[in-house]
Amino acid sequence: MTYDYDLFVIGGGSGGIATARRAAQYGAKVAVAEFDRLGGTCVNRGCIPKKLMVYASHFPDLFKDAQGFGWSPVQSTLDWQKMTTAVNQELDRLNGVYQNMLDKAGVDLFRGYAKFLDPHTLEIEDRKVTAEKILIAVGGHPVKPDIPGIEHALVSDDIFLLKEQPKRILIMGGGYIGVEFACIMNGLGSEVSLLIRKNLILRGFDDDIRSEIQAGMENHGIRVLASSEASSIEKIPEGLRVTLSGNHQEIIFTDVILSATGRKPNLDNLGLENAGVEISNGAIAVDRYSQTSQEHIFAVGDCTDRINLTPVAINEGRAFADTVFGGQSRTMSYENVPSAVFSTPEAATVGLTEAEAQEQYGEAVKLYRARFKPTYHSLSGRNEKVMVKLVVEQDTDKVLGAHMVGENAAEIIQGIAIAIKMGATKKDFDATVGIHPTIAEEFVTLR
Ligand code: NDP
Repeated sequence: MTYDYDLFVIGGGSGGIATARRAAQYGAKVAVAEFDRLGGTCVNRGCIPKKLMVYASHFPDLFKDAQGFGWSPVQSTLDWQKMTTAVNQELDRLNGVYQNMLDKAGVDLFRGYAKFLDPHTLEIEDRKVTAEKILIAVGGHPVKPDIPGIEHALVSDDIFLLKEQPKRILIMGGGYIGVEFACIMNGLGSEVSLLIRKNLILRGFDDDIRSEIQAGMENHGIRVLASSEASSIEKIPEGLRVTLSGNHQEIIFTDVILSATGRKPNLDNLGLENAGVEISNGAIAVDRYSQTSQEHIFAVGDCTDRINLTPVAINEGRAFADTVFGGQSRTMSYENVPSAVFSTPEAATVGLTEAEAQEQYGEAVKLYRARFKPTYHSLSGRNEKVMVKLVVEQDTDKVLGAHMVGENAAEIIQGIAIAIKMGATKKDFDATVGIHPTIAEEFVTLR
């Protein structure tokens, strides 16, 4: 049987586009379907606009810091619309870049929502297309908790579209998104309350990191309402009225509520049942080759709910393309995947947390930790500390994990992640000469 395409990719986000290009490089005839803007969540409603707003949110601190170095005070106010327009212009540019990349790779783009009619046939708007192999890379979407009045809460997608800056914002959820937006909005000058149902933010991260970021956020003026939940939301003429339960049994008045309580795969209306693709726990079930229950259908990225990060989706997709079209059997390695939280203070991590290491290696785990004031803040006047931590297995001397809270944590941990991925020992770290004076040198001088 002949098909219209060797590979049809459903979803033009980071994972889908990277895979389409890689497969096309191997000579496959490839098409992508996307009903929205190219680039998916990361480019349009996630990593990129978020990071640009993180940069914007740092300026007030920098203006203040400058005075400690002898500069006269800076009088500056934020023009919210100017900021969002500039951010959106950059996203338009990136959309063009993605379109060019597909054109250059010779990948056809179908503008529309793709749905399986049978295991090899998709319908996109009125067109029917067949493909030998199909990759599902449809991402995920935010989910809100089921509480009365939740329709008044925004999700992260909406924040980028706000016409004006809210004076007060209540953020629900202590994951990456809740924490990052709390810091962004606080830095931009809104009054921020962060509502978390446990006592600490960022479940799954090293406990020292969690408490250090949380204390840092409070130090920056964010009100963290721990061990509490919203039981109802009501619209009133002055804004929104939120009734809390748990440790903080109070009523909060706010202008905007952001629900950042997790995401789930976009599986509705894909017609997966027509293709016999199995779902497990609300995500597409895949093996380590990203193969679904159908031999010729694969899935990568957030719709498979493995590690939901853009570079992971890209790696999963490229491993699939290399294996299926490039003749080099390869799987994605989920060990030592570094990640960062672009909070203020920033945090980044790679490898095992202290708790995970102790669970696996028990008494054999040795910890190295330093908490200090970086040179920059000796003049800035800001009471900011940096924390670095290594988790080491004593018997082999292998560094199992590296964690950091402080400026440029993500840039620093990215380099350290290479060493850890290569199996570096504490002795290797000790034998490395530091660059002085830096924050990063602490990682090679920990005793
Ligand atoms: P997460 O799953 O990371 O966090 C959800 C948060 O909401 C948790 O704190 C959770 O609390 C809380 N929560 C869940 N349900 C409820 C509820 N019913 N009531 C109150 N609180 C609730 O989701 P995010 O939306 O923050 O992020 C989604 C994904 O996006 C992540 O998987 C992440 O990988 C990715 N991402 C990565 C970024 C980065 O790399 N910098 C940035 C942004 C997103 P509890 O801990 O108690 O369960």
